[in-house]
Parts: sequence; C-alpha cells; structure tokens
Amino acid sequence: MLKGKTALVTGSTSGIGLGIAKSLARQGANIVLNGFGDAEGPKAEVAALGVKVGYHGADMSKPADIEAMMHYAAETFGRVDILVNNAGIQHVAKVEDFPPERWDAIIAINLTSAFHTTRLALPAMKKANWGRIINVASVHGLVASAEKSAYVAAKHGIVGLTKVTALETAPTGITCNAICPGWVLTPLVQKQVDARAAAAGISNEEAKKQLLAEKEPSLQFTTPEELGELAVFFCSEAGKNVRGVAWNMDGGWAAQ
Ligand code: NAD
Repeated sequence: MLKGKTALVTGSTSGIGLGIAKSLARQGANIVLNGFGDAEGPKAEVAALGVKVGYHGADMSKPADIEAMMHYAAETFGRVDILVNNAGIQHVAKVEDFPPERWDAIIAINLTSAFHTTRLALPAMKKANWGRIINVASVHGLVASAEKSAYVAAKHGIVGLTKVTALETAPTGITCNAICPGWVLTPLVQKQVDARAAAAGISNEEAKKQLLAEKEPSLQFTTPEELGELAVFFCSEAGKNVRGVAWNMDGGWAAQ
C-alpha cells in the first residue's frame, strides 16, 4: 500500500515510534529513523521488513539539527511523504517544583520540534499533492493529570497544531491527524512504574496494575503495534478525508 513512499518517524529508536515505523515498513514504506541510543538494532529490525532504511541522530530540541535531518531525508530518499512527529519525553513534578529547564526541554521536544518538521516537510508534500502528517500526542492532549504540567501543555499544544495544519491543508491531498494513546508500556512509562513501585514498596507488577486501574478502564496497555495500525489507516486511501482529528486509543481513559 505504501510502496515507493518514505516515512520519517522522529524518536523511533524505541517504543511507539519504532512500532509505528515497523507498521509503515510492513506496508512497503521506506523509513528514516531518528532518536537516541542504539540505532543499529532498530535499523536492522526495519530493514528485515524488506524496505530501505536511513537514520539521522538529530536532537529534536535543536532547530538546526531538525533542518539537517530534513535535508538528509530529502537528499537520501527524494521526499518525506509521511511525517510522524513522535519524539517525546516526560517529567513528573508539581508546578511549583517543576525545574524550568525541564519545562523548556519538554515544550521543545514534544511540541516545537513538530512545528519545525511540519513547516519543512510541507512544501514538498504540496508539490506532490500527497502527504500524511501524524502527530503522536497523548490522552494528555485531551485531559490532564496532576504533576504533568509541561507534558499536558505540550500535548494540548500539539493537538492544536494538528488542527491548524489540517485546516491549512484541507483542500489538498495532505492530511494531518493526531494519535492520543493512553498507557503504553515503553521505557517512558516503565520509569513511572519503577518510581511508583519504589515509593509504595510494591512489586513492579502491582505498580502496573495500580497505574492502569487509576486511569484506564480497560485495564490493558495499548501496544506500539496497535498504534502502528492506526497510523497505517491514516495513510490509507480510506483515510484521505480524515482531517484534524485527535484519535484516542486509550482503553476508555478520556470517556470518563
Ligand atoms: P520512549 O522513551 O520509548 O521513546 C522516545 C523516543 O524519543 C526514543 O527513540 C528517544 O531516543 C527519542 N527521543 C527522546 N528525546 C529526543 C530528542 N531530544 N531528540 C530526538 N529523539 C529523542 O517513549 P514512548 O513511550 O515510545 O513515547 C513516544 C511518544 O509517545 C512520545 O511523544 C510520548 O509522549 C507519546 N506517548 C507515550 C505514551 C506511553 O504510555 N508510553 C502515552 C501517550 C503518548
């Protein structure tokens, strides 16, 4: 379905980004990976699906790095047809205790980076009159939780950016939508599980159960594979008039 297309997925050396990259690769899209840590393992996992794979280690908090990554993708693959803005970090603290530098980093990585990649990807998408921009927001783009001020602000912000981008591209073959996961058991959430287990003196399994019970009525984690399939739908012909939605896959979290 996506043979001949190129997808750039930010923050795809791990977790949800890697899951989405692999789902798009299964549909035939060539993939540009990005993110920190080991890149060789993720590259091999994607290449095993029979597509071309590239990697750029741009730091999403740095606009100059983002420009270099977009140049690399265009030069290596011709064009970015599918842009998945996924890179994100978390910090948990009350507003009055929140370190200002963590606030700045979360806004830069979880929100501003998507502005830069989007503004740089749009001209070539417009020329081709085809494009898919998928912003990985969160259920925290729709509702709040205590002690996550920067994250909730950034995720509400990216839902807003999604809507504006969708409106500006509405008469074209480019769509922009957001995915809003509930709990997904990735390294980002494992840190919160570990912190809860340590603070309450409970097991890791018990901490996971408590985390789910608090917010997610299905009592199940969403998986990167499930989110990848939603991204595939947004890229499909049937998804061509889905524009500006913030689609939660959250086990009922935001329905409460
Ligand atoms: P993760 O920690 O497994 O992966 C984050 C990825 O982003 C990694 O590849 C990491 O290297 C990369 N990254 C971090 N900082 C970066 C930077 N400055 N520049 C470039 N890459 C950077 O986390 P995840 O859970 O897979 O999260 C992915 C996205 O999904 C995030 O935007 C997160 O907010 C969102 N999300 C996660 C959950 C969840 O429950 N895990 C729920 C809702 C939304």
